[in-house]
Amino acid sequence: MAKKQFKAESKRMLDLMINSIYTHREIFLRELISNSSDAIDKIYYKALTDESMVFDKNNYYIKIEVDKESRILKIFDTGIGMTREELESNLGVIANSGSLNFKKDNNITDGYEIIGQFGVGFYSAFMVADKVTVISKALGSDSAHKWESSGTTGYTVEECEKDGVGTEIILKIKENTEDDQFDDYLEEYRLRGIIKKYSDFIRYPIKMDVKETKLKDGTEDEYEDVVIERTINSMVPIWRKNKSELTDEDYENFYSEKHYGFDKPLKHLHVSVDGVIRYNAILYIPENIPFDYYTKEYEKGLELYSNGILIMNKCKDLLPDYFSFVKGMVDSEDLSLNISREILQQDRQLKFIAKNLKVKIKSELQNMLKHERENYEKFYKSFGRQLKFGIYDNYGMEKELLQDLLMFHSSTLKTMVTLDEYVDRMPEDQKYIYYGAGESYQRIDKLPQSEMVSEKGYEILYFTDDIDEFAIKLLSNYRDKPFKSISDKDLGIESDAEKEEQEDENVEHKEIFSFMKDVLGDKIKEVKVSKRLKNHPVCLSNEGEVSIEMEKILKSMPNGQDIKADKVLEININHVLFESLKDAFENDKDRLKLLTNILYNQALLIEGLSIGDPVEYANDIWKLIQ
Ligand code: ADP
Repeated sequence: MAKKQFKAESKRMLDLMINSIYTHREIFLRELISNSSDAIDKIYYKALTDESMVFDKNNYYIKIEVDKESRILKIFDTGIGMTREELESNLGVIANSGSLNFKKDNNITDGYEIIGQFGVGFYSAFMVADKVTVISKALGSDSAHKWESSGTTGYTVEECEKDGVGTEIILKIKENTEDDQFDDYLEEYRLRGIIKKYSDFIRYPIKMDVKETKLKDGTEDEYEDVVIERTINSMVPIWRKNKSELTDEDYENFYSEKHYGFDKPLKHLHVSVDGVIRYNAILYIPENIPFDYYTKEYEKGLELYSNGILIMNKCKDLLPDYFSFVKGMVDSEDLSLNISREILQQDRQLKFIAKNLKVKIKSELQNMLKHERENYEKFYKSFGRQLKFGIYDNYGMEKELLQDLLMFHSSTLKTMVTLDEYVDRMPEDQKYIYYGAGESYQRIDKLPQSEMVSEKGYEILYFTDDIDEFAIKLLSNYRDKPFKSISDKDLGIESDAEKEEQEDENVEHKEIFSFMKDVLGDKIKEVKVSKRLKNHPVCLSNEGEVSIEMEKILKSMPNGQDIKADKVLEININHVLFESLKDAFENDKDRLKLLTNILYNQALLIEGLSIGDPVEYANDIWKLIQ
């Protein structure tokens, strides 16, 4: 029998195929099973239009058989089969897809589930096999044919015997090499694993003979090994089931089966969209934070299926960074896949799905916030920081979407509150949403700056995450109420009369303040009378966009930026200490210098900022004591 050569371009293609199209070798099995499933689908389709045919689902299946000894792996199906011509044209010309032609010939444009379209999947078998034999009998044909090839050298076709319509793919698995364990593909457990992973939702049963130990008939303690034919795949994917048939437990099982996490998810979301682009998705909001969540190592993404077949383990494009904690999967029949089914041809569909999901996730979180407060707070504790990053990212592009999901600790309620709740509670005369930034609640509580706002009875939101103030700067206001830091130079609380009084006092003490300002140089913008201080002698407030807290954070970053806040040293002129300052100004300028430096350094310490020269500060205190 004459050996036929592959068409020239096919030779190169085959080489390319074997060596580079696929990143994971194990997917050869997915490709062959998908072909078998396509072949059964084709019969199903024919039966739909041919009244003389009956499609009895029980007769259609795929079977995997292994013979370790002879290194044979067989994939057998009861699909439509191939004639001699089809064997030649489908398998002899690489990149010729019989399935695509079938779709064209039968005018199938839509809704139908045939997977193949590129005409290369079959050749992935050569990644694991030295020799591939295909025995096939086509529907309506009396004879069967055998196609055989050992790779680039060409192929042969001859007539042979075969019972029943269908196709048998016989792979002679390669010998192990130093780098590759081809033996794996002869191990039952490994094959089952691959089937579960990639082909669990193929619509026809994928059968395998499985060895099991059983109690011997008629005995009570004698066991025997028996071989039982089992169906490996679960066939109907949970996401295609009706939501009403599914229980919370089903979703939880799916979560753990899929290894999305070890925790019990806080929430699941089952989406079925039947619009321009059809898709199903099951998404989860985990309870626990993955250990590497806030590191570079964490990879976001959803599993992506095309028609029940796994295409990608982590499709990043389906989730925005701010929802990177979401786990789950998307299945769509409307994706245009590339040649290896590993990447998508164009991402228009993906973008559409991602946009859709984003809105769904948002409203699910909002629901949770409304109806399951405790769970939401749990969620927020783990992932709230990520939402705030989301507001800050891309110059606040997504702030509208995310702002009502935010929560902060409230000074009055001592619990987490949303911005809506804060604004709803604001007294009529309150113009701003006040916040204090610092490393802990206790610390912010003690800030001298908070005295006046608290005394007014206004609620203060505590910002303890380093991202908080940066995110809020991008929001700038919520429901038309601007945010204001309690450390801001102007709190917007003073009445006009109070402001006037403050101006008069500043003028009155102009000389002493300007002396103090000269002592401190550019460390501060100005020294002024404080209206906010009640019990403390001094504090720092700030002017402009960069707050003192932001200065601290920027400085602590790895590539530490030395951006400074414009600081104002505020003096409480009702405090006894002010008498000492005045006295020193009159009688002992050196002493005023000393006091000024000490007060400034104390104000820095209260803010949690480091003082320039601790030794000098210690010496100053010494001098004062003496
Ligand atoms: P694709 O599946 O992308 O079309 P393949 O290289 O995997 O490409 O297969 C080429 C063609 O061979 C298929 O389109 C199909 O017509 C035919 N074929 C492959 N496997 C089978 C099978 N098990 N039964 C029937 N036809 C098959």
